[in-house]
Amino acid sequence: MSLLIVVFALLGLFVGSFLNVCIDRLPRHQSIIHPGSHCDNCNNNLNFWDLFPIISYLWLRGKCRYCQTHIPRRIPIVEGITGLLFAMLSWKFGLSLELGISLFYASLLIIIFVIDLENQLVLDKITYPSMILALIFSFFWPGMEELISFPTEIIDRLLSSLAGGAIGLLAMALPYVIYRRGMGFGDVKLGTLVGLMTGFPLVFVAILMSWIMGGIVAALLLALKVKSLKDPIPSATFLAISTMVTLLWGSAIWQWYLW
Ligand SMILES: [Zn+2]
Repeated sequence: MSLLIVVFALLGLFVGSFLNVCIDRLPRHQSIIHPGSHCDNCNNNLNFWDLFPIISYLWLRGKCRYCQTHIPRRIPIVEGITGLLFAMLSWKFGLSLELGISLFYASLLIIIFVIDLENQLVLDKITYPSMILALIFSFFWPGMEELISFPTEIIDRLLSSLAGGAIGLLAMALPYVIYRRGMGFGDVKLGTLVGLMTGFPLVFVAILMSWIMGGIVAALLLALKVKSLKDPIPSATFLAISTMVTLLWGSAIWQWYLW
């Protein structure tokens, strides 16, 4: 069991390295496969030893081997967090189909989180295909059967996902219609995706948690005068975190809440 966790932690480090490529290139509409990894400053191709997660960054002291340009600190952070999440998910799900799906969801959420944080963008080319995948995955995802039960498991799971999507859509569309300012339509689409992923009733956990987190952080930033009321709120950033927490502990949180 513990070997499994170590293996998935390592896998996560390397996947994290690829997620960095996606985060860099997707908002710029570049291919994530071609060309291979290179330094953005000097264009030198990076080899395996330049790209070894975290270790390379530490070994090269955060600078490009060829031109000494600083490598963004985000690179090792994303690698480390991906490794950590992969380890936690493999511990939670064991070797199973759910593990595969949750690893995909975690990777997706990390990309959405960082792209929104850095570019204030939620990309359609990420959300739309992911919605379709989430619907397909819902057949293999533990829906609400442990919480609420419909007669057939397959319909149960699909309905759970669809209902979650509808609730996510409404929950994010309402503040968008009321406030407009500070929220984009991308956040509404992301709310829908999150609902399709987490399903009913866990979508409530994801959405409520993101609102609470967003509220606390916004209040802190206003109090510290770092931000003003006019600044946009990175809703997708909070929603990505709360969805990850929901994937890991959603059922426990829901049952605790009901109790
Ligand atoms: Zn360089």
